[in-house]
Amino acid sequence: MLQISNLSKTYPNGVHALKNVSLTIDNGMFGLLGPNGAGKSSLMRTIATLQDADSGSIMFGDIDVMKDKAELRKVLGYLPQEFGVYPNVSAEEMLHYIARLKGVADGRERKELVKALLEQVNLYQHRNKYLAGYSGGMKQRFGIAQALIGNPKLIIVDEPTAGLDPAERLRFNNLLSEIGENIVIILSTHIVDDVSELCNDMAIIAGGEVKLKGHPDALLDTLRGRVWAKRIRKEEVATYQEQYKVILSKLSSGQVMVYVNSDADPANGFEAVKPTLEDIYFSNIA
Ligand code: ADP
Repeated sequence: MLQISNLSKTYPNGVHALKNVSLTIDNGMFGLLGPNGAGKSSLMRTIATLQDADSGSIMFGDIDVMKDKAELRKVLGYLPQEFGVYPNVSAEEMLHYIARLKGVADGRERKELVKALLEQVNLYQHRNKYLAGYSGGMKQRFGIAQALIGNPKLIIVDEPTAGLDPAERLRFNNLLSEIGENIVIILSTHIVDDVSELCNDMAIIAGGEVKLKGHPDALLDTLRGRVWAKRIRKEEVATYQEQYKVILSKLSSGQVMVYVNSDADPANGFEAVKPTLEDIYFSNIA
């Protein structure tokens, strides 16, 4: 279990990126959902021991993460938002190299591990290609393969599907969902569908603060019977925003679907709709 307590961080330029963040994260896939600039990467990098917070603590089991970074790194698999430079080496060579760094010293064992990983992420047939020539989706799958070396107990994936096309995204999410339930996996994303498809627990973060935490179904229950939708003209949006608690307005075949939050039936042509995670998200990030 990962226990984050009262974590705060202000960057030297004065940006208050994390404000007293506390979260308890159990085994399974946890979704950290928030808009760009919410503080997700700051939080992920702190958990991954890549940067320090100003105050607060992080415990992973009995590892005090901010004090005992080396211990945490032994059980961590990290897929950063950006790898930076992709070298002119093949995926197979790179995995061998990383496995050796992570302590898989036996050559035969390493060879079997690398082969199994390449097969798992569906890159075996591209194993000899330079990473520099990989597509976005292939790079992300390679990222998962390297993160899985060393049987991590905690895997952090930071914005993995940003920039992937729909087919690549589907493939990547399928791969994530196969990793297993007996470790903590944190998926940081601004894509609501990634969380609704994959996660059994989640939090919404915005402006450096945790706005909401819980199981998606339980969060949906809080809005059940309170979301109403109506198709209106674009010019009417401003008026509706004045008159109703608008959750979001979405373009739909050239018109606008407006979704509002109301305990009572607003009438006026509105119809009750089932709340989605998107409604929860937009109700909480403002
Ligand atoms: P997210 O991952 O949710 O997009 P970040 O953690 O990257 O959010 O950023 C949170 C806020 O902190 C943003 O306002 C961002 O501009 C700022 N920020 C992030 N990293 C740094 C840094 N190294 N120095 C200064 N400001 C930063």
